[in-house]
Amino acid sequence: MNKKVAFYTLGCKLNYSETSGISRMFNNAGYDTVDFTDTPDVYVINTCSVTENADKKCKRVVKEALKISPNAYVTIVGCYAQLKPKEISEIPGVDMVLGAAEKFQIIDHITDLTKKPKAVVFNQPVSEANTFVPTFSIGDRTRTFLKVQDGCDYSCTFCTIPLARGSSRSDTIENVLKQATEVAASGVKEIVLTGVNLGDFGIRNGEREDRFFDLVKALDEVEGIDRIRISSIEPNLLSDDIIAFVAQSKRFVPHFHIPLQSGNNKILGLMRRRYRRELYADRVATIKRLMPDCCIGVDVIVGFPGETREDFIDTYNFLNDLDISYLHVFTYSERENTPAAEMSGAVPGSTRAERSKMLHILSEKKRRAFYETQIGNHAEVLFETDIKEGYMHGFTRNYVKVKTKYDPVLVREIKHVTLTAIAADGDVEITEAEEVLVH
Ligand code: SF4
Repeated sequence: MNKKVAFYTLGCKLNYSETSGISRMFNNAGYDTVDFTDTPDVYVINTCSVTENADKKCKRVVKEALKISPNAYVTIVGCYAQLKPKEISEIPGVDMVLGAAEKFQIIDHITDLTKKPKAVVFNQPVSEANTFVPTFSIGDRTRTFLKVQDGCDYSCTFCTIPLARGSSRSDTIENVLKQATEVAASGVKEIVLTGVNLGDFGIRNGEREDRFFDLVKALDEVEGIDRIRISSIEPNLLSDDIIAFVAQSKRFVPHFHIPLQSGNNKILGLMRRRYRRELYADRVATIKRLMPDCCIGVDVIVGFPGETREDFIDTYNFLNDLDISYLHVFTYSERENTPAAEMSGAVPGSTRAERSKMLHILSEKKRRAFYETQIGNHAEVLFETDIKEGYMHGFTRNYVKVKTKYDPVLVREIKHVTLTAIAADGDVEITEAEEVLVH
């Protein structure tokens, strides 16, 4: 009987994509991937450094794992494993810790599965994490997160990601196209392009060989993929060329997620972001001019050191005036070994929480206003696999979340619908779907 491996992933889409890649490595080595509760022989826990209380979460998952399968071999990988190998190796029950340069050699490192009295640690400096390992997640097969870029050469003062993942590096366009074709052949209808600093795509072995725009143009030619979504792109890298191309593309959907972080230029400077708010407003205006129905999501951090009440109000008003569709709000928290953690002007926790709440309310207002502009529109919806209280969900190309009575025939299908009203829970109701579109 094959050995069994189970996974637990904390953090971002990139981690999910990489867990899927590692899972396939285990499958090629003769393991079966099973559920977390299915008494596996090996657990792999993929950690995150951005998650609040990453250490506590990691401890809790290890404890839970060993309750289910007390003799399982426990391996910890991911950003937190790179940043804090010693702390992680001291968690009771952990057998192996692999850093950023070692995580994709996991099969070579797992030689015998007997539990160790003390965890073994393989953790080279992050500068050694300089090869690109492509991965993609299939998940429930509605969409796949295709990793095309890793690492980051920027130095935003609040961020530990460059320390955990190393410098910017990318897949080749040729290989991305090969993977996209494979994904298309598996029946997945939507690809989400994923990376740490996706817009910086094109660096290999420290040299710039091509650009993200070249990848976008090449991917647009791949037959069999209905939708391609750009996960998140820095505003300074989202050029007018890319916006104009997406506006006329059949495959790239009208949805951008663009980190802003602050709407106040003083704070943007302290964060060492590479743009001022005027550039951001300009990008939003260009998108909306070319794609009036485009959905625009915004990342924003509240409570950064030195953010006064006036600075926050400046951010609030900037966002309020901007034609955007929703916010992802992050409450600033100090990270070891980052310049921001040493800055003066720390904002009290209660003020950070208050500001976060205000932006969450603003986000809901923005989402509703965006949805209202969509009512009456015809749209294509890709239905998900979920079922909640007799309803299923799906997303339009421009990321409007719709709901309808559960119908198994609709699962993972793209249908033409009309958006009729906003339901009490905030999702959008639709009229009965018509025929399945064949692409
Ligand atoms: S762009 Fe800034 S926030 Fe994003 S990963 Fe790079 S350093 Fe971190």
